[in-house]
Amino acid sequence: MTSFDPYILRKEFPYFAHESAVWLDNAANTQKPQAVLDRVLLSLARASTVHRAVYALAEEATLVYEEARSILARFISAPSKDEVIFTNGTTGAINLFARSLYLSGKRAGRQGFRIVTSVLEHHSNYLPWRMLADEPGVEIIIIGHDGLGIDMEALAKALSAPCDLVALSLCSNVSGAWLDSQQAAKLARAAGAVLFLDAAQAVLHRAICLDDSVALPAGGIRVAADALAFSGHKMYGPDGTGALWVRGDLLQDLVPVTFGGEMVRSVDDSAIDLQPPPRRFEAGTPNCSAILGFAEAARWLLQSPRDEFRAHEEGLGRMLHDELSALPGARLYSVPGPLISFTLDGWHTHDLALFLDREGLCLRAGRLCAEPFMRALGVPALVRASLAAYTTREDCMRLVRALTLAKAAIPGRACLARFARDSASMH
Ligand code: PLP
Repeated sequence: MTSFDPYILRKEFPYFAHESAVWLDNAANTQKPQAVLDRVLLSLARASTVHRAVYALAEEATLVYEEARSILARFISAPSKDEVIFTNGTTGAINLFARSLYLSGKRAGRQGFRIVTSVLEHHSNYLPWRMLADEPGVEIIIIGHDGLGIDMEALAKALSAPCDLVALSLCSNVSGAWLDSQQAAKLARAAGAVLFLDAAQAVLHRAICLDDSVALPAGGIRVAADALAFSGHKMYGPDGTGALWVRGDLLQDLVPVTFGGEMVRSVDDSAIDLQPPPRRFEAGTPNCSAILGFAEAARWLLQSPRDEFRAHEEGLGRMLHDELSALPGARLYSVPGPLISFTLDGWHTHDLALFLDREGLCLRAGRLCAEPFMRALGVPALVRASLAAYTTREDCMRLVRALTLAKAAIPGRACLARFARDSASMH
């Protein structure tokens, strides 16, 4: 039994003082604690610039910015802060990594580029690799699913031949299934491949530990990877923030794909001398206030009882999973845990999400940016409830009660009309 009380935690989140809607879309975006809001505001109220001016305010801003990088490195137990690149989210991180890795290989004279990914991936970890497959010599292999997770036998088979890159999600945004990263890393290494993990859905629920020599934090998980990406807004941080971590020796070889201010030491007509990583990957003025808020969210999590958060989220998720499994007409497409994807017989998912909205609940509906996985599962769309540490039992029971009501109702005309207007934007 845990003494963890989500109502006490909620006092740190202004959302709950001002809004009554039940927030169950944490897989897309989380609410922010006051500490994060304060950090962003403080930074905006003392605007400066980093890595490019000599006045005292800029010197201080640069120190604080680099301290933020150290906090993010500590958050995932990365061996060095200089292996962490700030991005605008997981999407930005993967696009950077994909282009950069491919170009580096090409410049080094590599013939061909073999990528293995899976059908489970979010579009952000699918399209960048798919787009690369248009380049000459690039081959992409998309492995299938084994129920709700990755088919590890198919992965092993695909990696029985040499490979350059394996790109997989650590936790699915559709099914909530976790990858066995240790096993994936073993297979990737045997094939000579780099293992990239999309950790967008992982960081909220588990403390990621990349360094085997570091003691595993309570509620943490040892993760094996050569590169990894995650988003700040999915872990109580500001919108449009994220990070790409790349193992030091691999990072040294990567070439930048965005060019501009403060990423070169010097440049003239004949030569470009790049800054060392990570700065060579952060051209232009960074979104300092948001990045500092991102680091504050990481600090806040580092200081939080994450094992208690985890036990709470898992416990509530399992309870909700059981309740929905028992609801006639509900079909579940997720493993028991804090992310529950489902359909309700007789309801279009968008209509159902609008019905739930009218009942005061915010849930995502649609293809969840994972269209290939939807096709593989044989469903056009899903409704998704995703929990966080501040989710309460009452939130979950309100969802159960609303779905029980929905079962007794027929989708109304007004609801369908609104769906017709909105559906084009609900992917
Ligand atoms: N990968 C996964 C598994 C996700 O769930 C998401 C967002 O939902 C992304 C990548 C993209 O993250 P972002 O939109 O923060 O860049």
